[in-house]
Amino acid sequence: MSAGAVILETIARVREEVCALHAELTRYELVVWTAGNVSARVPGHDLMVIKPSGVSYQDLTPEQMVVTDLYGVPVDGDATGEWGNPELSPSSDTAAHAYVYRHMHEVGGVVHTHSTYATAWAARGEAIPCVLTMMSDEFGGSIPVGPFALIGDDSIGHGIVETLKNSHSPAVLMQNHGPFTIGKDAKSAVKAAVMCEEVARTVHIARQLGEPLAIDQGHIDSLYARYQNVYGQ
Ligand SMILES: [Zn+2]
Repeated sequence: MSAGAVILETIARVREEVCALHAELTRYELVVWTAGNVSARVPGHDLMVIKPSGVSYQDLTPEQMVVTDLYGVPVDGDATGEWGNPELSPSSDTAAHAYVYRHMHEVGGVVHTHSTYATAWAARGEAIPCVLTMMSDEFGGSIPVGPFALIGDDSIGHGIVETLKNSHSPAVLMQNHGPFTIGKDAKSAVKAAVMCEEVARTVHIARQLGEPLAIDQGHIDSLYARYQNVYGQ
């Protein structure tokens, strides 16, 4: 198969995958209306695939997913335009996703939602403390808060990267905004978004009745190491 045919096939596969994963955001009730987005890096290329702006979840198709470079600029392949990008703009959060791919080379997928409980913690600018063994497993500690940042330049992406590079957590709560999650692929990033909302809800409920008990850092570390060895990679 020619190099051109290989990349066409790869992009078609990533478009399918990214489109299908958006159904998980609605299945787990992490999004309303057109908010939220999933993206994936195109393996072996400086490209990413992301949800278009302003399309209802039920109407999303693989062909509508937008291929961009790692600066968020839509690309149509060579001069023939054979990748066939739709006449749709990429998600308004594309610059933040692209910044993450440029600065975190191990990341293959990024997800953003305004899921209710995680966003409630973000509204208070409060990290979710690691008080559950499943949090130790999945997040390796607390889920940190990133800085307040406005859309329109690299400040959201910069805030995500600066917060996550010093943390085991694949999730960051951008202050007054909501969670962004990362993974080795898009499916892992979606899982992190689902788990982030789950622990945000559980710890919130625990708080209503008292102060959740802390877990020793040593136990957090060993739970995380064990889980990542058994279930990681
Ligand atoms: Zn948002």
